Amino acid sequence: MNFELTDDQVMIKETVSEFAHRRILPNRMIWDEAQIFPVDVFREMGEIGLMGMLVPEEYGGAGLGYIEYKIALEEISRVCGSVGLSMAAHNSLCTGHILQFGTEEQKKKYLPKLASAEWIGAWGLTEANTGSDALRMQCVAKKEGEYWVINGTKNFITHGTSGDVAVVLVRTGDLLDSHGITTFIVERSTPGFSGGKKENKLGMRCSETSEMVFDNCRVHESQILGEVGEGFIQAMKVLDGGRISIGAMSLGIAQGAYDTALSYSKERKQFGQAISRFQAIAFKLADMAVAIEISDLLLLKACTLKNAGKPCTLASAMAKYESSEVAVKVSTEAVQILGGYGYTKDFPAEKYYRDSKLCTIGEGTSEIQKLVIARELVR
Ligand SMILES: Cc1cc2nc3c(=O)[nH]c(=O)nc-3n(C[C@H](O)[C@H](O)[C@H](O)COP(=O)(O)OP(=O)(O)OC[C@H]3O[C@@H](n4cnc5c(N)ncnc54)[C@H](O)[C@@H]3O)c2cc1C
Repeated sequence: MNFELTDDQVMIKETVSEFAHRRILPNRMIWDEAQIFPVDVFREMGEIGLMGMLVPEEYGGAGLGYIEYKIALEEISRVCGSVGLSMAAHNSLCTGHILQFGTEEQKKKYLPKLASAEWIGAWGLTEANTGSDALRMQCVAKKEGEYWVINGTKNFITHGTSGDVAVVLVRTGDLLDSHGITTFIVERSTPGFSGGKKENKLGMRCSETSEMVFDNCRVHESQILGEVGEGFIQAMKVLDGGRISIGAMSLGIAQGAYDTALSYSKERKQFGQAISRFQAIAFKLADMAVAIEISDLLLLKACTLKNAGKPCTLASAMAKYESSEVAVKVSTEAVQILGGYGYTKDFPAEKYYRDSKLCTIGEGTSEIQKLVIARELVR
């Protein structure tokens, strides 16, 4: 295996890092404190190809692979996990679902708008009473002629209010039937579709999280993605890619926290020397660096399998599980290394710490990743 980045990958890394430091870093705490979702920045990210990274060029995307996507998402999340989360949900969930299962007509209609970020995308699976247990969802669609009428509320949806278009998983069959869920593309302007309660969160505060409410929302059958009843199976496949996204975002957060801790430890003097000279601190840095390297390798494997079109459920669940737990551990240690300053908002360690916790929850909790991994191992 070759672990060297190609020239193009190095260029992507440098370009995205420069963008993140110029456009995101100066504002990240302002957005975080006020829970501002910076739509303009996403439009700019669309202009430089970050919002349709995996979309082929014929549909207006950057036509890149998962390794380039991982690199870009890492560099954004290294500066701000929140912007990384929104980029991930837009690229791999909403856009990724349409790319994987859309008809030619649906792809031509939606992918160019999503890839340019003229439209922001949302993806709705979770409901208030059904997160991990998605097959019990209560949001339903009933057929009326050529239309389907959707009723119910989706919960915790990234861009649930600001999204211009949503890919929504809705029950069209029996409770607990894995062939009883159908996917619909619903545009924001559709009567009966609105945003609901916006969450006030611990971290990831500039990524909007809100309800999506469907009240007798009539959607034409041409808006179904794939076949009726295929939604749950599709969602599981989409989440294979989604987990690589959350893994890359986690890795970026861990790297950002590590960068902060490393540079601080070289500057901060106690007992007449830099604290990095104390073995207790240097060993923490060593553990953090090893954990980051392990996450990186697991992610590279998952990206390579995904690019090759090979089964990647096991690899992506392992990468997501490990990277997200590492993000939490590394950012916790970063706060510790900064001591009292780590606990203040004058340094970014506390933000990495708050943002990291979402990584072990979103797109399947760590417990659910272990279930997925165990199922793959023992089947
Ligand atoms: C910031 C944010 C953004 C999000 N964005 C989206 C989005 O864009 N679209 C979307 O559809 N959803 C989104 N979600 C929802 C997210 O995917 C769910 O929160 C997550 O899947 C967990 O579901 P839950 O919160 O209902 O927890 P629950 O499923 O209620 O889990 C609670 C606890 O029980 C554990 N548990 C549950 N079942 C089992 C089991 N069988 N075995 C062992 N332990 C179990 C869990 O691991 C967890 O620790 C988002 C959530 C957040 C916080």
